[in-house]
Amino acid sequence: KIRVENLYKSFDGTPVLHGVNLTVEEGDVVCLIGSSGSGKSTLLRCLNFLEEKDSGTIQFGGETIEPTTHSINRLRQRVGMVFQHFHLFPHKTVLENVTEAPVYVMGLSKKEAEAEAFRLLKKVGMQEKSDTYPASLSGGQKQRVAIARALAMKPEVMLFDEPTSALDPELVGEVLETMKQLAAEGMTMIIVTHEMNFAKEASDYTMLIHEGRIVEKGVSKELFDNPQEEPTKAFLSKIL
Ligand code: ATP
Ligand code: MG
Repeated sequence: KIRVENLYKSFDGTPVLHGVNLTVEEGDVVCLIGSSGSGKSTLLRCLNFLEEKDSGTIQFGGETIEPTTHSINRLRQRVGMVFQHFHLFPHKTVLENVTEAPVYVMGLSKKEAEAEAFRLLKKVGMQEKSDTYPASLSGGQKQRVAIARALAMKPEVMLFDEPTSALDPELVGEVLETMKQLAAEGMTMIIVTHEMNFAKEASDYTMLIHEGRIVEKGVSKELFDNPQEEPTKAFLSKIL
């Protein structure tokens, strides 16, 4: 379970997150939508401690997390993140991309890490490419490797920041399928996406961020069919 209270974050005096409150229960799949520049990436980055919050509290499983008292590496291990532009290591094979952190951060033996990596690559349909370098993969394949790599740290929650926005349209489906499969297995997920059909059909809840606050969170189908708040109505009427 994730709980965020009164999260504030500014850049150079400009507030971006302006008192974000949200709760995500274990096993929930929650999409985060909102206009460009509304703070979606900043919020995910704060949750993964890639960005340091100004104030507010972040709790995982009832435990309040402060980067000053918790090890950042240990925290990042608990929160997997998948980015728009994959961020794979270009000079490592698919297999090495997935085993790198388990070996160097979690201290697994190479053999253990490889066994787990093969299991995860199989899950995302990439086991046959384990010896390939990222440059020769399609965008959809790269993203599926990136998902396997994040899962290799055994995270409690997975954050996705526009995982399909950089993909050719015909490759979007395979990545969304992989995410649906993860959701079906009970993974807790927060997904920033512009795929409104995916948000509506495949997520439990959708929340809208506007002017640095979550202004509405609802059961996804209900939020899309019957938005309650003005900013949600305005956003949906622009994009649907
Ligand atoms: P998009 O849909 O375009 O990805 P977003 O909702 O993810 O937008 P953010 O990337 O979180 O928006 O950015 C929110 C605001 O914070 C923007 O005005 C952006 O310029 C600003 N911002 C983000 N990161 C930084 C940074 N490192 N330094 C300064 N300003 C930043
Ligand atoms: Mg963004």
